[in-house]
Amino acid sequence: TKWVYAFGAGSSDGDRNDKNLLGGKGANLAEMARLGLPVPPGFTLSTAVCTAYYANERAYPAELDAQVEEALAALEAQVDKRFGDPANPLLVSVRSGARASMPGMMDTVLNLGLNDETAEGLAALSGDRRFALDSYRRFITMYSDVVLGVPHETFEDILDMFKEDHDYTLDTEITAEQWEEVIAQYKQAVQDALGHPFPTDPRTQLWGAISAVFGSWMNDRAVTYRRMYDIPASWGTAVNVQAMVFGNMGETSATGVAFTRDPSTGDSGYYGEFLINAQGEDVVAGIRTPQCLTKSMRERMGDTQPSMEEALPEVFAELTKVFDQLERHYRDMQDIEFTVERGRLWMLQTRSGKRTARAALKIAVDMVAEGLIGEEEAVLRVDPSQLDQLLHPTIDDAYQRDVLAKGLPASPGAASGKAVFDSDEAEAMAGQGEKVILVRVETSPEDIHGMHAAQAIVTARGGMTSHAAVVARGMGRPCVSGAGEIRINAGEKLFTARGRTIRQGDVITVDGATGEVLFGAAPMIKPELTGDFAALMVWADKARRMKVRTNAETPADVQTAREFGAEGIGLCRTEHMFFDADRIAAVREMILADSQAGRVKALAKILPMQRDDFADIFRIMEDRPCTIRLLDPPLHEFLPHHADDVRAVAEATGVAPEALMERARDLSESNPMLGHRGCRLGITYPEIYEMQARAIFEAQALVERETGVKPVAEVMIPLVAAARELEILKVRVAAVARQVEAETGVAPIYLIGTMIELPRAALRAADIAAHAEFFSFGTNDLTQTTYGLSRDDAGKFLGDYLEAGIFEKDPFVSIDQDGVGDLIRIAVERGRSARDDLKLGICGEHGGDPASIGFCESAGLDYVSCSPYRVPIARLAAAQAAL
Ligand code: ADP
Ligand code: MG
Ligand code: MG
Repeated sequence: TKWVYAFGAGSSDGDRNDKNLLGGKGANLAEMARLGLPVPPGFTLSTAVCTAYYANERAYPAELDAQVEEALAALEAQVDKRFGDPANPLLVSVRSGARASMPGMMDTVLNLGLNDETAEGLAALSGDRRFALDSYRRFITMYSDVVLGVPHETFEDILDMFKEDHDYTLDTEITAEQWEEVIAQYKQAVQDALGHPFPTDPRTQLWGAISAVFGSWMNDRAVTYRRMYDIPASWGTAVNVQAMVFGNMGETSATGVAFTRDPSTGDSGYYGEFLINAQGEDVVAGIRTPQCLTKSMRERMGDTQPSMEEALPEVFAELTKVFDQLERHYRDMQDIEFTVERGRLWMLQTRSGKRTARAALKIAVDMVAEGLIGEEEAVLRVDPSQLDQLLHPTIDDAYQRDVLAKGLPASPGAASGKAVFDSDEAEAMAGQGEKVILVRVETSPEDIHGMHAAQAIVTARGGMTSHAAVVARGMGRPCVSGAGEIRINAGEKLFTARGRTIRQGDVITVDGATGEVLFGAAPMIKPELTGDFAALMVWADKARRMKVRTNAETPADVQTAREFGAEGIGLCRTEHMFFDADRIAAVREMILADSQAGRVKALAKILPMQRDDFADIFRIMEDRPCTIRLLDPPLHEFLPHHADDVRAVAEATGVAPEALMERARDLSESNPMLGHRGCRLGITYPEIYEMQARAIFEAQALVERETGVKPVAEVMIPLVAAARELEILKVRVAAVARQVEAETGVAPIYLIGTMIELPRAALRAADIAAHAEFFSFGTNDLTQTTYGLSRDDAGKFLGDYLEAGIFEKDPFVSIDQDGVGDLIRIAVERGRSARDDLKLGICGEHGGDPASIGFCESAGLDYVSCSPYRVPIARLAAAQAAL
């Protein structure tokens, strides 16, 4: 088996299509080398090595050692240096690279191959002893941290102490001789920590680093990240071993990261940061404040340090040519890492850049205009779940801002919450339902869970490409980074800024669009879908087959959904209307009535209110179909539970409190979810459903007379398990329709159908379809009843189930395509066999989940329905599913 793949100098074993085998980094390094770009040569140990390593109790395949030796020899020949040769040493980086980019999750070791002898060789070769020792001390720090488990703080403390003793502020002030002293202290620290010396043999170092990368695939950080982004553990990571180039060789050397377009806004124009005389991770680590890539960016940010365009104009020109070439080649915005060694440019990485939703839209739409991609491709380029970011509020312009501090606008959007200074605490508070803002000096991969739990993130240090900024953009969290005015005291759980003190629990607002951190909670305004968003939606609507409806019942929600493009209502939950203050008394009177006559009297009071509710909805939805579900929950849900409420109801209804309590006890059930609810109520108390049906049909007549537009109602009977239930209730609803028509002279346009939310209903779909004109899959209940799992109780052990791999995803978030999916497929097939024009939709929460929407497309449903704010997400996801 071939385990090792070489890349470099115009030819490579692999290319961009080998991501699965070589990881994203390895495949793109191979591709860039093939394109003739200046890539330091190297080789990739494939992801198959990782898989084999874990399959064999962390042992490597037998042929691996020989293949690595062979690749190393070829590399030596190519760069004309020898690994471990004191006279002419080859140094390498050892870099991880999974299929999907996992920023910061894996660790890279630079300058590998150094020891006392090769460091002297490097000094002689470069003519710069200070540089050689700078590289050496970096290597000891990184290798010790990543491979040997001696934390980098150990070395930072030594260095800080040394600088303090010598009154230095910058590392660059340290002389070669002084680095020697520091290095001696470093080595002693390793000896003290481990009881054995730092490894000097380059081959030992190499295998140590390779094993550390493969080992890190299973570390907690990586496992957490994979769970969060649904990356299977079986993918494995590759390891790239690459000849070093040096950005720390003086003032004409540099290292940087860049995007070919602005990843926050999508604006065209290069975007990035770099550092002169620095290496690799210095830029993202936030140790020094990086310089802007371009002059225009520097001016925009008001930065005083020269940009790369100004400081290194020739390499900059060369670099931008490479940007253009890569963008044209990949036909997408690229995120690029590069290094300049004594004026010579080297490319170290390229990949499709992570971007905000706003940038994703703009880039996709711009690229269509530029002729780089077509409309369908543009539709496929935008991640539907990411749109969520744009569908959330921004701070009201009219609001008088109380600015606490200003930093960089690292990730857009705005959010308010309680300040918290620790990721575990952020997670804990969020778990209690609190909205929190994570405030940190800087973030590291250990903070991922805290960032996820937070509404927004603020850091005191770090640039636009710092860990916090990159991760926040990926997660869609607003972020302000590098707010240098903020002084954080994490121990005391507070920060100070502009003379004020904010303690844990105080509410602040983050505006990721301006970089401001505000005191208090700011009022937010609703987003609008215009410009690029609207353009992409037009293309999406052209591409999709399924309709998109909404789950809504209040006029405000229905209106929002309409503005977001909902093509009807998939679920109007009438019981939500029962709780409104003006009618709950009548509802309770109806429930408490001990005779049918009493119920009918109370229902007569509710009827006009329900009719008005439906009329409001029909006015907004005009002739678009509205699925209205008749009463579903068990009646006791409407009864008062607290003594005060009981007294109030007793007064209002004239029923004695004791009698009331008695009735409540009568109605209480052991398993209300499986109890007297849904159509079972309709069977026992037909007058309730008749009242609701009447309200619907009268509202239709009312609106039609008023506007001339004919509303379309789909009357939905919930929780049907047997065809006979539906048959009985359908007759009654149809009778009401005829009565209303006779009374009003208006013939209502309506269908009668059912929810499929019980396994029996799915299995008996053919019988049921004989009486149903439509099915709507109520996948919340269908998931509960298929698994025999209560959604309200699953939280307690869901984590264990995800951990153990029993559930790949929370089945209440993303549909269980195997089990629940099977029932849906069966119901679709049997239902359609009985009635070929049967209308099919989904109204569970899954209707707004892109993966579940993909499933609905493949199951052949006619529409999905979701909450108003998810309608645009569903439109895009439905388009992608159809393409
Ligand atoms: P990450 O996945 O965390 O970005 P990388 O493997 O890309 O890690 O390495 C981080 C940085 O280290 C790179 O951006 C680059 O600046 C530096 N680096 C990696 N390999 C080399 C190399 N062969 N020569 C010089 N610098 C390197
Ligand atoms: Mg890294
Ligand atoms: Mg990188």
